[in-house]
Amino acid sequence: MAAALTLAFALSTAVCALMAVIGWQRRHRAPAFRVYAWVGMTTALWSAVDIALLHQDTPRGTLLALGAEFPAICGVVAGFFCLSLSIADRAWRLTRRTTLLLMIEPALVIALIATNPWHHWFFTGVHPTGMQGAPVPIYGPAFWAHAVYSYVLLAGGTARIARAWWRSPRRQRRIYTLGMLATLPPVAVNVLSLILHETSIDMTGVGYAATAVIGYWVLARRDLPSQITVANRHVLETILDAVTVVDLDGVILDANPAAGRLLRRLRPSTPSSSMVGRTLTEALGRDPGLLDGGDGGEYTLIDSRGTGIDLHMRVSGLRDRRGDRIGWVLVARDITELNRRRNEAEEANAQLREQLRVNEALRADLAEQAVRDALTGLHNRRHLMNVLAAMDGPFSLVLLDIDHFKRVNDTYGHAAGDDVLVHVSRMLTAGVRHGDLVARHGGEEFVLLLAGATAEDARVRVDHLRERIAATDTDTGGHLVRVTFSAGVAGAPAGRGHDPTDLLSAADKALYSAKRLGRNRVELATGPIDGTAVA
Ligand code: GH3
Ligand code: MG
Ligand code: MG
Repeated sequence: MAAALTLAFALSTAVCALMAVIGWQRRHRAPAFRVYAWVGMTTALWSAVDIALLHQDTPRGTLLALGAEFPAICGVVAGFFCLSLSIADRAWRLTRRTTLLLMIEPALVIALIATNPWHHWFFTGVHPTGMQGAPVPIYGPAFWAHAVYSYVLLAGGTARIARAWWRSPRRQRRIYTLGMLATLPPVAVNVLSLILHETSIDMTGVGYAATAVIGYWVLARRDLPSQITVANRHVLETILDAVTVVDLDGVILDANPAAGRLLRRLRPSTPSSSMVGRTLTEALGRDPGLLDGGDGGEYTLIDSRGTGIDLHMRVSGLRDRRGDRIGWVLVARDITELNRRRNEAEEANAQLREQLRVNEALRADLAEQAVRDALTGLHNRRHLMNVLAAMDGPFSLVLLDIDHFKRVNDTYGHAAGDDVLVHVSRMLTAGVRHGDLVARHGGEEFVLLLAGATAEDARVRVDHLRERIAATDTDTGGHLVRVTFSAGVAGAPAGRGHDPTDLLSAADKALYSAKRLGRNRVELATGPIDGTAVA
């Protein structure tokens, strides 16, 4: 029997010591773990002394062991009381005052036990043999006072847990139920020990070991949901968005501090505290029209100084468990500053885009000027050479030169000569097809690129042009001037197998022939280029 009891106490000592270590390691998680470590340590001590008590065979030894045991018991009781309070209320903290008050009774107990030989108030004597063969103490009035005090303390702690249980929502009660259950093992064992104390050794320490295990479980998984509620409340109080809860009649049920601040900006005369209980329309001084449906949007309200406040509103319906609508949550964010910056950015952007557009137009204009002839507006020689190099055959190149142009200048003046050049270039442009190119090659020389035309086609078409121009006058401000031109035609073969310079020089040779043969005529280039061009 003694061996079984020793084993039970040893086990209890080990479990409680382990709990003390675990509690101490977690002391930074919650203050309750510090108290928990204390309870574990004192309970381990209690059980350890119980082993010693079990192996005493003289009354003196028993009294000495009891002298060591009672401080541990007092520590367990005080620690257990604190643990109950911290389980009942997360915000509970061990204050210096509570510590001092809780130390009074243990100090008295220690003093009374130390002085017991003189007054015998705590132990009146010792039974030489109890049930397990070890001496058993006979308790005096001071012990019973200590027992009553301990029970009052334990009952007080348990009552606090019971009150927390009563006040918390049903789904959070389980943890408090467990907390109260944890107090049962030591109480049951202790009552039994007190009844049987003359024949049995006190096993309360073992009961507390059970408490320690349950208590750890309670602490480790304590009311997480209520923590979340606390966190949610904190978020609501600190966010800058105005959050308002309204019921179906538009009556404000709840408003966070940001909502109060917003209201004060809109209507400084109303204290923000009076927001709750009034309708949204009353609070704002106008019908917000938010609850007509939809889930919000952007609104501009005018504050007391006449300044607009841009609000981004989110309206979400609140429904009860059955899915019936019971109200709305309005979340308003002041986006005035955001809008201002956005508008500024948009304006700057528009300016930039306009600038880019102007730049692009200028650039395009410059690029166009670089490839145009200023007098006639036709493409210049540079452009011609670029196009020519990129052309796919077949096509024909026509080089034409106004006959005796020097005479026009000499007779009517340079300005009249310019008029003639403009006139001729217009007639040339009007006389070619879409996809053809007319360029001023320099002076009174022009080049036509006739896409898809064989040399013979080109000759026929240019001859028509020649006839038309030869039959048309240019009005040069008073004088009607008529000019003719001579032209040389060179056909380019299919594909890119042509050399622009060769083509031009072949056309130039043909032009020279036309001039030599009397002017006002069109000649085909002879030689290899002409031969390959005619498909
Ligand atoms: P040909 O029949 O042999 O071609 O005789 P031509 O007089 O036309 O030939 P020439 O090359 O001797 O003269 C060309 C003249 O064209 C000389 C030049 O003053 C004139 N000319 C060149 N460019 C311009 C211009 O932009 N405006 C004016 N008005 N005259 C120009
Ligand atoms: Mg010339
Ligand atoms: Mg000429």
